[in-house]
Amino acid sequence: MNLRLNGRVALVTGSGRGIGAAIARRLAAEGAAVAVVDLDRDDAVRTAADLPGSRGYGADVADLDQLRSVVDRVHEEFGRFDILVNNAGITRDRTLRKMEAAEWDEVIRINLTGVWNGCKAAQPHLLEAGPTGRIISLSSTSYLGNFGQVNYAASKAGVVGLTRTLALEMARAGVTVNAIAPGFIDTAMTRAMPAEVFNRVVASVPLGRPGQPEDVAAAAAFLASDDAAYVTGQVVFVCGGYSVGAGHP
Ligand code: NAP
Repeated sequence: MNLRLNGRVALVTGSGRGIGAAIARRLAAEGAAVAVVDLDRDDAVRTAADLPGSRGYGADVADLDQLRSVVDRVHEEFGRFDILVNNAGITRDRTLRKMEAAEWDEVIRINLTGVWNGCKAAQPHLLEAGPTGRIISLSSTSYLGNFGQVNYAASKAGVVGLTRTLALEMARAGVTVNAIAPGFIDTAMTRAMPAEVFNRVVASVPLGRPGQPEDVAAAAAFLASDDAAYVTGQVVFVCGGYSVGAGHP
């Protein structure tokens, strides 16, 4: 493996399992020291235990104070802070007719405000890092519109607007800010669907399979590396052609 991230320090939210854990493993494999952050601290510590030079921390991304204290601790313990991956996210799917206000609020609070909290907490350290500074946030192809996901789609569209705007605000420091829009990835989030629905969605993916967390992690590693130094304000689709088949970007 090409050690593109040797000496860099990365923090990945929601990385106790799923896509976040795959991103943490891939960044570590490329030489980064990774702060694995999860709501469930035990999951974070377990994931970090397999990654050389990495550590696990507990934090709720919806709570700015918690995130700020973990980000500052990571900067202090590792001596620098280069890469923030805003990965933590949830779904509470229902049509608007059946959706409760609490389900709207919870998804916006974690998926969108959680990304803002991460950016707010890490910005001073990333500005200090300068050209090695990276923000990578998880959006979703759902931001283009997906039945039963008004809350989730709105939160992920918000992540795109935040990303494009913050890319402009941080460009002068050399910090890049990008988003990844995964399509249908095989994790607990999608396995929560009835098997019949899961299989129907997979059948509509042009590449004929669900994505694996490692497919998303490969894109994150590219965006985190110097290879992507001239890429900012972009949304990278990792969806097996799913969005293209539906006539989207
Ligand atoms: P997942 O398997 O459900 O894992 C989500 C992780 O985030 C879990 O470790 C969870 O911790 C953590 N988390 C949840 N709420 C949190 C909070 N408030 N603070 C900190 N951590 C929290 O999900 P995934 O499929 O890996 O998805 C990862 C990201 O990719 C999400 O942003 C998701 O929206 C996005 N995405 C996924 C897909 C897909 O098809 N899977 C497609 C497009 C986009 P606990 O284990 O403690 O709950």
